[in-house]
Amino acid sequence: MPIDFELSPGSQISQKHYHAIAAEQMRPLSRKYDLAEHQLPTEWVDFWWNEGRKGPEKTSASNDGFVTVCLQAEELCWGDAGLYLRMPTPALGGSAVSAAGTKEQKTKFMSAFRAEGGHPIWGAMAITEPQAGSDSAAIETTADWDPDTEEWILNGTKIFCTAGEGASTVDGGFVVVWATIDKEAGRGGIKSFVVMANTPGMELIGCEKKLGIRASDTATLRFDNCRVPNENLLGSSEVRKKGPTKTGDKGFKGAMATFDASRPIVAAMATGVGRAALDFLKEELERGGIIVRYDAPPRDLTAIERDVIEMEAELRAARLLTWRAAWMMNKGKPNNLEASMAKAKAGLAVTKITQKAVQILGPIGYSKKLLVEKWMRDAKINDIYEGTQQINQLIVARRILNYPSAMLR
Ligand SMILES: Cc1cc2nc3c(=O)[nH]c(=O)nc-3n(C[C@H](O)[C@H](O)[C@H](O)COP(=O)(O)OP(=O)(O)OC[C@H]3O[C@@H](n4cnc5c(N)ncnc54)[C@H](O)[C@@H]3O)c2cc1C
Repeated sequence: MPIDFELSPGSQISQKHYHAIAAEQMRPLSRKYDLAEHQLPTEWVDFWWNEGRKGPEKTSASNDGFVTVCLQAEELCWGDAGLYLRMPTPALGGSAVSAAGTKEQKTKFMSAFRAEGGHPIWGAMAITEPQAGSDSAAIETTADWDPDTEEWILNGTKIFCTAGEGASTVDGGFVVVWATIDKEAGRGGIKSFVVMANTPGMELIGCEKKLGIRASDTATLRFDNCRVPNENLLGSSEVRKKGPTKTGDKGFKGAMATFDASRPIVAAMATGVGRAALDFLKEELERGGIIVRYDAPPRDLTAIERDVIEMEAELRAARLLTWRAAWMMNKGKPNNLEASMAKAKAGLAVTKITQKAVQILGPIGYSKKLLVEKWMRDAKINDIYEGTQQINQLIVARRILNYPSAMLR
């Protein structure tokens, strides 16, 4: 099979377009919203809603589908990962609707994000609870059926919900909430529900103060007899015992498939932050007269050159794994293993690269005069959300060894 690493002309246009946005719109705001943690970055949000989301001028040149989505994530996170997560988009909530929703549901919940004009809106996905994160099958939020009104009644608390403030409080947006309709059924009873912003019974409790990605709103949401219509249930209400339900709904496994699409994007985000640090480090070294000799024999390399080359190799390996996982999505191939590989590798690479950049730059790298210390803080989340480093390694091991989750956990 021929291997081609060349990006299509359409993808190259996208890459340039989003790089310009990152440099001109995001970087100037980076420090401001790192410091003003819970303030809405209005300049950025308005820019994205009115201009940014239109994308580059349409040309006849093809793009590379999901790989292009990853390119966008890398470029914009080269700009600022926190602002990227604060963009008014359907985000993870949208991935869930796309993965598990019917045609009518996709039209109903997603069209407002595509409509011209209006005001910025957000989507989010709420899985994590105080006692359930990595073990998402342990969630305790319940959804009870009310046959009189034909509504589901949600009760429980969700924590660490990215974009949860915007998605729960600004009309038109929505939060996809995981809840169990049958605790006895374990995973088989877990379903996802679209809860529209400002639905009575969904309450924003507050936003988390964080180490990094501080421009992103990470919310705690409480559901207290929150009623949602039956048409907001993604998939069927059949409780799965084994295999798909009679209606073909893959239940919990289907909901988990959302991660196969979102993990390559998170890996691309990590690559963007790592590249920001590496690009800056190389510029600073060049200013100091150190130009990395990529073609010198290893025995002639200085310690700094060796470090930079290693950082570069880590970054490129992460990017290649990411593109592979994204390319498999394009082809409709199962990519669960590749998505976790990319996410695990990119999480490790970005934490290593940003820490090394601070180290090599010394005290100035540690100072708030530069953004390098911020990139080091922004990097760490890539080892935590969308499955921690350990959980993604566990998935890789299960897939390679062909062990079910009950045998390797
Ligand atoms: C900034 C931020 C944004 C987030 N955004 C969202 C969001 O939008 N939606 C959402 O639902 N959640 C979100 N999360 C939550 C995140 O996905 C979880 O925190 C994460 O999955 C870890 O789960 P946990 O918090 O329960 O930690 P735990 O599962 O308790 O993990 C604690 C430690 O134990 C390790 N560990 C756990 N199980 C195993 C195992 N079997 N083998 C080896 N090690 C293990 C973990 O790797 C970790 O190091 C976000 C979190 C943060 C910090």
